[in-house]
Amino acid sequence: MSLLLAQAAVNDANIHFDKLYSYRIPAELAGRVFPGSMVLVPFGRGSKARMAVVLAVGEVDESDAPKGLKTLYDAAPEDARLTPDLLELVRFLKERTFCTWFEAVKAVIPYGAQYRPAVVDGRHVMQGRLTRSTERLYTLAGALPEKPKPGPRQLAAVAALQNGPLTARQLDEVGISRATLDGLVKKGVLTAAEQDKAIDLFAAIPFDPQPLELSPEQQQVFNDLLPNLEDARPHAALLHGVTGSGKTIVFLRLIQRTLELGRRALVLVPEISLTPQMIRRLKSTFGSRLAVQHSALNNTERLLQWRMIQQGNADIVVGTRSAVFAPLQNLGLIIMDEEQEHTYQSESAPRFDAHDVAKKRAVMENALLLFASATPLTETYHAAESGKLQLVQLTHRYGGRPLPSVDFIDMRAELAAGNPREVSVRLARELQENLDNGEQSILLLNRRGYRTIGMCTTCGHVLKCPNCSVPLVYHKPQQALLCHHCGHTVHPLPQTCPECGGKISYSGFGTQRVEEELAELLPGARILRMDQDSTSRKDAHETMLAQFARHEYDILLGTQMVAKGLDFEKVTLVGVLGIDSLLFGQGFRAYESVFSLITQVVGRGGRAALPGRALIQTSVPDHPVLQLAAAQDYKGFYREEITFRRFSLYPPFCSFVVVGFIGDQEGAVFIAAQRFGALLGQHAAQKPNIPLRILGPAPMNITMLNNKFRYKLTLKCRNDAAFRALLHETLDAYDAEKLPQKASVILDFNSDGD
Ligand code: ADP
Ligand code: ZN
Repeated sequence: MSLLLAQAAVNDANIHFDKLYSYRIPAELAGRVFPGSMVLVPFGRGSKARMAVVLAVGEVDESDAPKGLKTLYDAAPEDARLTPDLLELVRFLKERTFCTWFEAVKAVIPYGAQYRPAVVDGRHVMQGRLTRSTERLYTLAGALPEKPKPGPRQLAAVAALQNGPLTARQLDEVGISRATLDGLVKKGVLTAAEQDKAIDLFAAIPFDPQPLELSPEQQQVFNDLLPNLEDARPHAALLHGVTGSGKTIVFLRLIQRTLELGRRALVLVPEISLTPQMIRRLKSTFGSRLAVQHSALNNTERLLQWRMIQQGNADIVVGTRSAVFAPLQNLGLIIMDEEQEHTYQSESAPRFDAHDVAKKRAVMENALLLFASATPLTETYHAAESGKLQLVQLTHRYGGRPLPSVDFIDMRAELAAGNPREVSVRLARELQENLDNGEQSILLLNRRGYRTIGMCTTCGHVLKCPNCSVPLVYHKPQQALLCHHCGHTVHPLPQTCPECGGKISYSGFGTQRVEEELAELLPGARILRMDQDSTSRKDAHETMLAQFARHEYDILLGTQMVAKGLDFEKVTLVGVLGIDSLLFGQGFRAYESVFSLITQVVGRGGRAALPGRALIQTSVPDHPVLQLAAAQDYKGFYREEITFRRFSLYPPFCSFVVVGFIGDQEGAVFIAAQRFGALLGQHAAQKPNIPLRILGPAPMNITMLNNKFRYKLTLKCRNDAAFRALLHETLDAYDAEKLPQKASVILDFNSDGD
């Protein structure tokens, strides 16, 4: 007798033991379990039901079957199955990022939104999460009979359907009732059919294609990319285009050509806030075979959109990082806009970089991968310079518009002159001028490291979270202190210092504080604040940006999210506040981030007829990075940066991997890190040609988080298969050690050492 076995990766494993488990496939499930199938398995003591994904199916002789073999509970239907392509991406993530199998599965398919474990009649089964909802669609099928004389409602219904089918809901909105419609169905004037509900999230955006005419420079770029789009082999290119050069219209033409070739396109943007305007352009240009994938959708929306893609009903997909896994078939073009953004790198497992996944997909699909940016990552530009990527450039703004002029405001002088505010006198004056001229302004406030905190005016003690080694942040609406890591809340606000009894002052600055200053300085100005707190509601971004576009506000004040991609014709002044803390931040990308952020935000100004100007508040106006950013001299910056990277050995000249150690006792965590470092060194020494430098152990920047201590080793290495095999060996050796207290290990391939 032979047995059918499935090897499955089970949810809830962790990096230290993530092996595949074997299960017997019962006869009634035999035709439903394949590699990629989602199944429900008994796991651990008590045989709790766990989700799992099948990686292999095979037959063994009954006598060879493993002892204690358990039997699968259930298998999800075909539509939840990972295609061979998605399964390949799972393997890729697993191999590259050291995540667990199931973490990889959750990344590539909106797990949980699909099927969930349930108990029905005492049996463990997989249940669909979507209660399929349909709606009635009416189509005109014949003429209205002349007798009996049709009523006004009937005439209205027929008139409404002249231009094509409409749903019951759409007809109800124009005052035509279900009864009228069903009456007409009986007469054979209309037909009715049920269809999946509300797949078109963008019904409100009109399909209104405008001719896509390229400038000569844009045309040149398009022509240079075209052969690589048209031949069915994998290609990768970098479009380096200054802000306002019209990268978007080049994308549209490439997508148009992709669709003509019968293939599909994927457009990645770095932030949810940038999806609405991209969707608007795509929907109005290409119509409704468009889907979106990002985390602000609710589960049902996300799943419906995903299904639409999976079933081949979307030709274009727009989304943030995780959309790189969208199950588009016959993918011909992948665009990664603003490719320098760190949001393309996942900060929780699987810690993937969307650049790498996009490259992998382009190879799997024989697609063209296009990275685009005004300030590409140093690594990306280096790859282009050395011929690994095709390089195409847009060096001028569309319509010959000048780049904004950039000026610095020396905040040391401001302080010396006795201005206690965060907004300088000159910035306030120019904001007022803009207001008087009926023009709009954008203010960027870099928040990183610059928050309102509580500090003792006598001893300088900073109020910190008791669970995490970070300052608590003041939140005005709640009149409370919050930990931005664990959520610990202190209310009411402490007034005296726990150390010395001195008075606590709440200082530093945040968007809320600057908003108040602006209100004082510019009475009558309409100020729109956009940050994480003000945009938590769904659609908040879109609503706010639309309001700003309609000039219902004069000043848009926000964090990083106002810096990128926005295109408003009336914006002529851009102000940058609090950039110094980023400039002096840790991590090898600090300068690159500052250069990019300034270039991006400055680029928001003067995009249409009116010229733009930018003011940057800083205490180090002569800093070379700021000077280069002011001159919008990307290549000058790149040359400095690549030299630094080469001499100090940073990417692209090596890979940078951080191994984190987390545990309850500081001493034990330190020892674990030290031991891991020693094991890694020993194993590396046994192999030829493994370049490796091990730095540390050192405490992480946030040394304590949620009451756990954190240390790290920093590895400068060559992240190839041999190196990853070495890491695996070391992990196994570490796991086999008998240390008195273990620390859990996290491997982060995306860290910049900050
Ligand atoms: P980028 O993404 O490179 O910063 P955009 O694509 O947003 O630039 O283009 C900047 C502005 O110039 C937009 O308002 C856009 O509509 C306009 N523009 C660019 N190229 C063209 C073109 N070929 N025809 C008409 N308008 C264009
Ligand atoms: Zn905390």
